[in-house]
Amino acid sequence: MRSAFNRRRFMGTTAAASLGTLAIGASAPKPVGDKRPIVIASGNGLRAVEKAMDLVHKGSDPLDAAIEGVAIVEADPNDHSVGLGGLPNEEGVVELDAAVMHGPTHGGGSVASIRNIVHPAAVARVVMQRTRHCLLVGEGALKFARAHGFPEVNLLTDEARQIWLHWKETHDSNDDWLPAPKETVAAFIRETLAHRITGTIHCSALDTHGDLGCTTTTSGLAFKIPGRVGDSPILGAGLYLDNEVGSAGSTGLGEANLLNLASYLVVEGMRRGLHPKDAIMETCKRIATTSVRDPGRRRSDGKTSFGVSFYAVNKKGEYAGGSIYPGGSMAVHDGETARVIGCDALYDK
Ligand code: ASP
Repeated sequence: MRSAFNRRRFMGTTAAASLGTLAIGASAPKPVGDKRPIVIASGNGLRAVEKAMDLVHKGSDPLDAAIEGVAIVEADPNDHSVGLGGLPNEEGVVELDAAVMHGPTHGGGSVASIRNIVHPAAVARVVMQRTRHCLLVGEGALKFARAHGFPEVNLLTDEARQIWLHWKETHDSNDDWLPAPKETVAAFIRETLAHRITGTIHCSALDTHGDLGCTTTTSGLAFKIPGRVGDSPILGAGLYLDNEVGSAGSTGLGEANLLNLASYLVVEGMRRGLHPKDAIMETCKRIATTSVRDPGRRRSDGKTSFGVSFYAVNKKGEYAGGSIYPGGSMAVHDGETARVIGCDALYDK
């Protein structure tokens, strides 16, 4: 059952872990500039844009601001798509993917399939700063995080474990797991499992000097094959930026972005002068065109069988969100107010 006591204990533990962790690799604030800042995030990111903008206003580096923004969602045990409380792989183990890019240095770092670390985006920043590499995975990523003082935490909350267990017991009627009687299955389990669970948070920040930073962090597809890595930690797929052009990131079926290097495409569209909205739609069209060559990714009406969304901001502070199918949303902070807006869609259904 859901337990307020347990949740409070988790929050206490992770709040303490978060505080120390987020300082690792963060730069000292600098004087603020005179340009209008913008922070954008994927649908679940209202708290993230508020936090990131607060830091941008205090002179934080745009990447540091974005990392602290998404850290709120990473540490939230009630968000089952990211960090603590994320849904586990098919063996019941939470494996996280995250990446960062830093505009002023064109730096990037990422971690994939990392276990036991609440803030993988902050670890990705240290990969960028303290190695000559861009990507560390699995056990190596965890050892690296430990070496830099990131605390280990059991990421599998009791709620996520119960959701996973019910999935495990019901997804194959020919195995030997016996599901609990229907009437005893909690509503939150049924609601969560009613659809394939996806989710990720991307955040891009344009600071008062016109500099960009971005991060994407996720627990990936629920019940994935252990070791599966999605688009989120792959520079160019789940996020990309060029400090002279703009920044973009994505949520949705990662394989589609990997096969099209889609966030890179969005930034390259903006480089050619497209508004973020048009660069996103061009990318959605590209994915829609290439993906249906695979019958397994094609619906009976010929359209693609999955959804992907993008979020982009250009150097001028113009921004947009867009998806293949309707229903996407994004959070935006324009320096004065934060709000959630709908994403445009390539197809109407
Ligand atoms: N893009 C993520 C992945 O494929 C999942 C998601 O955004 O829902 O791992």
